[in-house]
Amino acid sequence: MSVEILKKQIAIITKLIKLYQMLLREILNKKVDVIIHHTATDRDRTSFEAINRGHKNRGYSQSSLGFYCAYNCLITGDGEEHWARSLDESGHATSAYKGFHIDICLCGNFMRERMSNKQIESLTKVLDRIKKKSGIKSLRGHRNYYPTLCPGQNLYNWMLENKGRFLN
Ligand SMILES: [Zn+2]
Repeated sequence: MSVEILKKQIAIITKLIKLYQMLLREILNKKVDVIIHHTATDRDRTSFEAINRGHKNRGYSQSSLGFYCAYNCLITGDGEEHWARSLDESGHATSAYKGFHIDICLCGNFMRERMSNKQIESLTKVLDRIKKKSGIKSLRGHRNYYPTLCPGQNLYNWMLENKGRFLN
């Protein structure tokens, strides 16, 4: 067998191995769709407990973590993360979207308020964590699935400007 043929064969095998690894990554790491929300209520006066109670009254199912809050994670005005549903459980806040997804919500009405620096810090950390854990297939706002102002123009603009760094 000539050296040239051998080289060609090695190149083909190398390509196949790369393809196989890519396929494995696709199968093993299920990338998720992430959907961003706002509560459309006062940023610094909205508590996790109030949202959880409100969603319980509206009949949302109880999560494996014991909460009724439809979002996976709620980030209050002080930047605190409140996890109501684990990353293995689909969010329930985007009924127009039927597939598995992660709902992240920031307290505030971002049609007229700005996000606090701590909220943006936390949102960035949460998105980085999801990117590392499973990968993010798409990052969109509630308004991309349903006629709503959610997640408010200010948060929506931030998302559009920054989404590139979170997608993989
Ligand atoms: Zn929403």
